[in-house]
Amino acid sequence: MNQIETASSTDLEHSPVGELVHSHATGAQWLSRYSSSLMGVFGTPQRVLVRGAGCLVWDADGKEYLDLLGGIAVNALGHAHPFVTSVISSQLATLGHVSNFFTSPTQIALAEKLLELSKAPAGSKVFFANSGTEAVEAAFKLARRNTGASHAAAAESAAKPRTKIIALEGAFHGRTMGALALTAKEAYRAPFAPLPGGVVHVPFGDIEALRAAVDNTTAAVFLEPIQGEAGVRPLPAGYLKAAREATTAAGALLILDEVQTGIGRTGKWLASEDAGIVPDAVTLAKGLGGGFPIGALVTFGPENSALLTAGQHGTTFGGNPVATAAALATLHVLESQDVLAHVRAVGEHLRAGLAAIDGVTEVRGEGLLIGFDLDADVAPGVVAAGLDAGFIVNSPGPRTIRLAPPLILTTDQADRFLAALPALLQTAKDAQ
Ligand SMILES: *Cc1c(COP(=O)(O)O)cnc(C)c1O
Repeated sequence: MNQIETASSTDLEHSPVGELVHSHATGAQWLSRYSSSLMGVFGTPQRVLVRGAGCLVWDADGKEYLDLLGGIAVNALGHAHPFVTSVISSQLATLGHVSNFFTSPTQIALAEKLLELSKAPAGSKVFFANSGTEAVEAAFKLARRNTGASHAAAAESAAKPRTKIIALEGAFHGRTMGALALTAKEAYRAPFAPLPGGVVHVPFGDIEALRAAVDNTTAAVFLEPIQGEAGVRPLPAGYLKAAREATTAAGALLILDEVQTGIGRTGKWLASEDAGIVPDAVTLAKGLGGGFPIGALVTFGPENSALLTAGQHGTTFGGNPVATAAALATLHVLESQDVLAHVRAVGEHLRAGLAAIDGVTEVRGEGLLIGFDLDADVAPGVVAAGLDAGFIVNSPGPRTIRLAPPLILTTDQADRFLAALPALLQTAKDAQ
């Protein structure tokens, strides 16, 4: 029997994978292959990207872009960050995957680090997944285990599992069936009915509506501190505090979905950290791995952390050595270089600049999660004009633009976009 060739004896440069790096195919050629091989759920991709460095990416035709979307709030340290890259490759060259029959030092260290950064009380725990929607699925299952038993006010309903879950209109929590049940958008939900039951959506930001909906049959309330997909809509001041009071009184869990807002995106580790509350659980994902897929559910306190017991949940890939090393590397850079202070400063600069531009009617968000509205339904046109001019931005709505750039975006780079925006707006309006 011949031995299978090991990586070191395979010529990477002349392998089918290595050759892709030096491919001379054009974007149009790639997109024609894309449309005959990839499922159509994403529509036609805007560009074929081949390379990135910091806040810049290049497409297959050699055009350069300033990336102001960061893979949708994922590339916290930009593209190809040298430290993150070297940590990932060295971990992969040491131990890549082990399954959850085993653990590894990076998994344990990352769990400890997340508990520290989220200021979780003693007895708090972490579950690792591979994406945002999986972190939310874990939270959904956590909610299904809530009987209200640990809450004195609801002791009479102890041991009876609760099924009612409350989320907000405009909410986005992911695309798998449980997360989709929490997601509000009808176009995403309707084709897949029936979804897991018991979920009620109440009007966004309306504390009275939430108070009226939360009762002692409620298992959990799911909230995004800032709704990202809905166009960067922050909850009104005091809302999280009022939600905490209502859920505590009813024995319901308060679960914060910080998949988009967490890990420094708003200039804080958690967008909710100044709200003066302790949640029951927080979901994390997007920025956590600096571009490497990883999600996490943090449960606060010993009771919440014991709701899911041995055998009740699991994952093959979740929390593997490479993903957790990538996250540790990302957190190390964010912390050691005080990136969060930078995020606050550049975010403020960007928002002030946007607010001063003719045709921008409202600017929202915190840190480097920014949404702004236009005075006409031309947001998709601005995205297209942006690409032509070398800027990647996103339009979550017909007159809304979202920015979620790498957290290392410089003031100069922000200024380049601010200087270009009036012309992008004009181009989009002319094309209407
Ligand atoms: C993106 C997002 C998700 C889903 O994350 P995926 O990694 O795409 O599954 C869930 N919740 C929020 C708030 C998000 O922004």
